[in-house]
Amino acid sequence: MPDRIPMVDLKEELRLIRTPLLEEITEVLDSGDYILGEKGKKLEEMVAGYVGASYGIGVANGTDALQLSLASLNVGPGDEVITTPFTFFATGETIAQVGAKPVFVDIEEETYNMDPFKLEEAITPNTKAVIVVHLYGKAANMKEIMKIAKAHHLWIIEDACQAIGTEADGKRTGAIGDIGCFSFFPSKNLGAFGDAGMVTTNHKKVDERIKKLRNHGSETKYCHDSIGMNSRLDELQAAILLVKLYYLDVFLHNRKEIARKYTENLHPSLKKPCVATGREHTFHQYCIELDRRDELALELKNTGIASAIYYPVPLHLQKAFHYLSYKKGDFPVAEKASERILGLPIFPMLTYENQNHIIATVNKFIENNGENS
Ligand SMILES: *Cc1c(COP(=O)(O)O)cnc(C)c1O
Repeated sequence: MPDRIPMVDLKEELRLIRTPLLEEITEVLDSGDYILGEKGKKLEEMVAGYVGASYGIGVANGTDALQLSLASLNVGPGDEVITTPFTFFATGETIAQVGAKPVFVDIEEETYNMDPFKLEEAITPNTKAVIVVHLYGKAANMKEIMKIAKAHHLWIIEDACQAIGTEADGKRTGAIGDIGCFSFFPSKNLGAFGDAGMVTTNHKKVDERIKKLRNHGSETKYCHDSIGMNSRLDELQAAILLVKLYYLDVFLHNRKEIARKYTENLHPSLKKPCVATGREHTFHQYCIELDRRDELALELKNTGIASAIYYPVPLHLQKAFHYLSYKKGDFPVAEKASERILGLPIFPMLTYENQNHIIATVNKFIENNGENS
């Protein structure tokens, strides 16, 4: 029986970058400066530059990046914020956290991202902002969404937590809308050794507001202009991320190569990720769709291969959002995807041998269990 193949193996990555990491970490330890210091500032500049935005604001995690973005735009009670129900919970959660009403719209069947036509239908006089998710690393249809936003004077926040480095029509996600939100949760494509996140923007005012809000609404020590929160990216995580950022393009390239191999070799009856031109995919996840999803997941598990369902319950059917009075059937595309989707292991250090083993195991299951419908 071959070794167990996990969804992500961070220890393999560590072997490659241990030496520069230890150097950077030691520098921070010796500096005596652990919060809001030089490393954090440098990372903000580097990530903003990488993404193509004017400003970067380091925060404690991707969820806070979203919440602070909404707060910086004064989104609150009485406002509606439109997003998709097919995303990680935090996207919808932060809308509720600032006191606004989450409004969901269905996704495109091919890309799992917001359907611009559904977005337009959901706009009301109370709509203030839209959170566009670039799910799995695949760019949403920003061209159409930005047109709609302009016509209706809406703020666009990009949830690019899974999509650092993804390009859409020559720009990188996180620098297309008004604000970009990134998560550096360890398993993300750029991951820290703990929680960390970043906001990117071209608006000077947003930069200034979030830099205050993340630090108790304060610019000068013990003088507080507004009610903020404690949400900073610490120096150790910043130092680690500076090293990892150096490898990001190579790691993204590896992900795309693995995805290409999966797409070429996995059984033709499976639905595979869409890589339409102009809207790139950096494969934070590689998800297939099939009727016998749960049976395949079990078969993979028995063979020592991990798989994962992103996401089994769409946001509009989550208990936490019962108060919004959505029901099953409201977003059929998202609901169908949640019943059929399955993420396969993908990470930069996944070996050829294991890639082949995964492909062979999936294909054998399809051949033995009949065609996918
Ligand atoms: C990871 C993630 C978040 C939250 O990021 P954290 O750093 O875990 O708070 C938000 N949205 C999406 C789409 C994510 O994948």
